[in-house]
Amino acid sequence: METSCDCGGPKTFIFACSGGSNVGQITNEAAKRLTAEGLGRFFCLAGIGGDVSGIVESTKAADNVIVLDGCGVACAKLCLEKINVPITCYIDATELGIDKQPHFDITEEQIGAVCDAVRSAVSE
Ligand code: SF4
Repeated sequence: METSCDCGGPKTFIFACSGGSNVGQITNEAAKRLTAEGLGRFFCLAGIGGDVSGIVESTKAADNVIVLDGCGVACAKLCLEKINVPITCYIDATELGIDKQPHFDITEEQIGAVCDAVRSAVSE
């Protein structure tokens, strides 16, 4: 059984909660966009939750870990904390003024707001 991703590339990993709500899906889209820009690599949060050894070890070896949660329940952050990996940049989409809703109608503006928050945080 394969227990790791193809982990070449940057040592900055991006985790998104990718949850079943508008804000969760905004984090998913933001993680894809930031990866496309080369800011980091969208990595597999489910592998952390599932305690997949290769994914956990790769994450522990990362230089930077960016975590995007849709809301204050903070599922992604809790997963990373469970394996004692320091989080270098943390974003909660609701703290950017985006209301959590039980639908997937997300906008470019909302995705952009999350991406901008990450870009701003990592440039400090
Ligand atoms: S952080 Fe919020 S939006 Fe994301 S998976 Fe958890 S409950 Fe869902």
